[in-house]
Amino acid sequence: MVDQVYNVAIDGPAGAGKSTIAKSAAKQLGFAYVDTGAIYRSIGYAVAKAGVDATDESAVEELLPSLQLTMEWLNGEQRMYLSGEDITGKIRSAEISELASRVASLPSVRSFLLEMQRRTARSRCVIMDGRDIGTVVLPQADVKIYLSASVEVRARRRWLQMPKTDYEQVLHDVAERDLRDMNRAVAPLKAAEDAVLLDTSDLSLDESIAAVIDIIRGKLAL
Ligand code: C5P
Repeated sequence: MVDQVYNVAIDGPAGAGKSTIAKSAAKQLGFAYVDTGAIYRSIGYAVAKAGVDATDESAVEELLPSLQLTMEWLNGEQRMYLSGEDITGKIRSAEISELASRVASLPSVRSFLLEMQRRTARSRCVIMDGRDIGTVVLPQADVKIYLSASVEVRARRRWLQMPKTDYEQVLHDVAERDLRDMNRAVAPLKAAEDAVLLDTSDLSLDESIAAVIDIIRGKLAL
């Protein structure tokens, strides 16, 4: 066990393996795993549930203060709640993924979620994954890792999780989401200057997890 509070930031595009790798590394190191994509997905879900157009910034902004969004860890699993309802399973669909990426480009949504993410990291050792963790949310993180993989490899990994879908469509969606995440005006997806870059295109999952743990242990001297 570690006495000090350490923060590890893992950023990268969709399908680079961030969540699976971060979750496993966190478990092995005894850190909490924080999936910030799930927080943006929850906002996407709330927006859809309220019947609000995700591209209408003022309507989304008006909705935000009324949202009761909370998260909790059960047996190491992060669960998301909206007004007390467990929505953890409901936010994993392709439709919510799309909505999450749309609301994530709105500055009001990003600033609304900033403090929630920082508060989570203040009190415990976390591995937090997202798009702007090393650059905006936790610029003082002890370790920053930027995980990437080629767009084809990432689309294939997504497609293998949802084999009923058309691969070409998944490839198109992943490429489009990358563009939106990288080109938005606020907190675009990019590696922090002091991040360690890790390309997982040619690595198996186990190799990727081992590489991430090595980087973390090396930096924190654990
Ligand atoms: O990682 P995941 O696919 O669950 O994220 C859903 C969407 O939330 C991403 O496409 C991205 O636009 C957004 N996101 C973000 N910043 C984060 C985490 C996720 O903009 N820190």
